[in-house]
Amino acid sequence: MKLLEDRIRQEGIVLPHNVLKVDSFLNHQVDPELMFAVGKEFAKRFADKPITKILTVESSGIAPAVMTGLAMHVPVIFARKHKSLTLTDNLYTADVYSYTKQTTNKISIAKRFVSPNDSVLIIDDFLANGQAVEGLLSIAEDADISVQGIGIVIEKTFQKGRKIITAHDIQLEALAQISSLENGQVHFLN
Ligand code: 5GP
Repeated sequence: MKLLEDRIRQEGIVLPHNVLKVDSFLNHQVDPELMFAVGKEFAKRFADKPITKILTVESSGIAPAVMTGLAMHVPVIFARKHKSLTLTDNLYTADVYSYTKQTTNKISIAKRFVSPNDSVLIIDDFLANGQAVEGLLSIAEDADISVQGIGIVIEKTFQKGRKIITAHDIQLEALAQISSLENGQVHFLN
C-alpha cells in the first residue's frame, strides 16, 4: 500500500534490535485518515470472507482494527493485556511474549463477546515473530471461533512471524512489507 509505505519512508525511525518506530501516525499519535485508508484496504482484501467481528490486541492494534470494523460494518474486540490474572472463569486467555518489551503478558477477552457462530478477522499493527497473532489464534481456538483472515499493517519479513502463521493455512495480508532495517535504513520487499 503506497500511501503507507510513503509515510514509513518519511516518518519511520529505525531503533536498535530491528524495531521500527512509527509513533507519529500509528503507535502514539494516530492519523485517522491513513488508518481509515488502511481499514478500507483490509475490507477490500477480505471482502469475500463472511466476517462477523474484528479481533485485535491492545493497544496499538486498536486504531487499524476499529477502522477496519468501520469499513466492514462489524464490531471490534480487543484482547486486554495483564501481567498476571487470577480470576479467568469468564475469560479466554493466552500468554504472549512481547518482542519490543521483552516481557510476557496474559491477553484475554471476555467470553460474553464471542460465540461459536463468529467468524473473525485478526488485525494487528506489526508482525515480527508472530507471538501476538499466535495468542489471538489460541484464544479463537479456545472460543471455537473460525478465523477467516489475518491483516497486518506492517510486516517485518526478515523475522519469523509469517512462517509461523502460514502453518495455520489462513489468508495473511500485510499492507507494508519490510525486508530489512539494517544500517538504520528501511527496505521494502520488492
Ligand atoms: P510479534 O508478536 O509478531 O513478535 O510482535 C508483534 C507485536 O510487537 C506488535 O503487536 C507490536 O506491538 C510489537 N512490535 C513488533 N515489532 C515492532 C516494531 O518494529 N515496531 C513497533 N512499533 N512495534 C513492534
